Amino acid sequence: MIRVGVIGAAGRMGRVVCRAVASAEELELVAAIDRSHVRERVDELTGAPSGELTVEARLEALADAGADVAIEFTHPETVIRNLTWCIDHGVHAVVGTTGIAPDDLETIRAAVARDDRPNAVVASNFALGAVLMMRFAAEAARYFAAAEVIELHHDDKVDAPSGTSLSTVRAIHAARRGAWRGPTAESLDGVRGGDADGVRVHSVRLPGLLAHQEVIFGATGETLTIRHDSTDRTSFMPGVLLAVRAVAGRPGLTVGLEPLLADVAR
Ligand code: NAD
Repeated sequence: MIRVGVIGAAGRMGRVVCRAVASAEELELVAAIDRSHVRERVDELTGAPSGELTVEARLEALADAGADVAIEFTHPETVIRNLTWCIDHGVHAVVGTTGIAPDDLETIRAAVARDDRPNAVVASNFALGAVLMMRFAAEAARYFAAAEVIELHHDDKVDAPSGTSLSTVRAIHAARRGAWRGPTAESLDGVRGGDADGVRVHSVRLPGLLAHQEVIFGATGETLTIRHDSTDRTSFMPGVLLAVRAVAGRPGLTVGLEPLLADVAR
């Protein structure tokens, strides 16, 4: 049995994660941390079958409950502090919070590198389809002359561009030699989106959306569009649970779900 705590348990993602963990075989939800809804019962708040477990404000509740793994879905401003606490207290971490600065990720990589430290999996998107979208985009990048990314999310999302779009651009650049340069002229500021080393990224924020992305490749006389849609937060749960089960066996820092995908390929 893997003992699991959820940090950000009262949030949109955290509630779904609590339900998924509490309903999963060989996982036990032993702690729920959030700065809001403190002392409320987790089952009433999230619908997770979790007995008398209540939301706690302090990360120490993870240690008190003997958590093996913490799942972190909070905010870009707090994620590194929470992750550092987990590393210092021997709790493996599965992190879904997006907007982590590259320098902070390198600090975490160094912190978990020692043999006596717990491990961490950090992924900007736990939906299996989104991971495949990034893999297919990297493949297409080898053959097309230009690409643009349109990412579309709900209007409460705090970071822009999305972590998924930045991961996608990194994958595109890694797969392709040579520069990506397109027209940049604008008569309206920002209308061509943000420039990520030649790949334009456009961030749409609207009510009614959840998490969506199109990668559009262009070449002479043709385009190729690769699109992924998360229409429900449950889409992230198979990836989150996969990471929870795998993290203890993956020394150091694992970035992205891709390295774990071999376990689910049929
Ligand atoms: P949300 O605002 O609904 O929930 C965040 C929760 O974290 C809130 O309940 C808040 O009270 C809590 N919180 C914030 N700081 C805290 C702290 N220091 N200690 C304890 N609790 C704290 O946000 P959300 O929609 O659930 O998204 C959370 C994060 O997950 C965002 O960064 C989002 O981009 C990311 N996300 C990632 C994936 C993925 O697959 N990796 C998918 C969806 C969302």
